[in-house]
Amino acid sequence: MKNNKLYIVLLLFLILLLAVCIIIPINHKGNQHKDENSNTTFKVVIDPGHGGKDNGATGASGKYEKNFTLSLSKKVKKRLEQEPGIQVFMTRTDDSFISQESRYRPKYANKLNADIYVSIHGNTFSNPDVSGTETFYYHNNSRLLANILQKHVVDATGFNDRGTKMKNLFVVKDTEMPSALIEVGYLTNPRDESKMLTDDFQNRIAASIVEGIKEYQGESAKNGILDWIF
Ligand SMILES: [Zn+2]
Repeated sequence: MKNNKLYIVLLLFLILLLAVCIIIPINHKGNQHKDENSNTTFKVVIDPGHGGKDNGATGASGKYEKNFTLSLSKKVKKRLEQEPGIQVFMTRTDDSFISQESRYRPKYANKLNADIYVSIHGNTFSNPDVSGTETFYYHNNSRLLANILQKHVVDATGFNDRGTKMKNLFVVKDTEMPSALIEVGYLTNPRDESKMLTDDFQNRIAASIVEGIKEYQGESAKNGILDWIF
């Protein structure tokens, strides 16, 4: 009697094993077609904040945030284009104005079915002594991206780590993929602004953003495999 029970358990285990062996390859086949078309490249949308008549912050020197964000974003784009498996898109590539009301920025990323969205900004405050780097996100599934980017960008700026914060900003709220908004540093802080406006500093920040994106891509690939198995 005891033996019979053991056989039944063994038999059930074998059936389960067989089912897993059959189901996984079927699922895999089903996914292959999709993989070939869309999942092989990791689509990144870079969003240079502001533009056109929307100057963004006015820095300590009188220079505008919109020019800083575009210059830095172009450097990020250039580096990302050299990464195999990454496809990069920009919400703007020149000084054009994008109205907030149109919600064009998140719509653009949603339409592309982008994997991540990274908005680049420079911060502003009335007190010129205030300094630091911070990253905003809205949805829970964006927290990991925000944390990883913040870690890399803070390393590169050397500014105070003001952390990652949840904030109701439409670009991170309306985007349907993990998204983060990086406030690289305070343009209203004269010392920080003078650094942020140099090519050298921007190249370092651009490299750190790319490192962050690659780290996040690796993390999401791992999660993708887990999703596929379970
Ligand atoms: Zn801004």
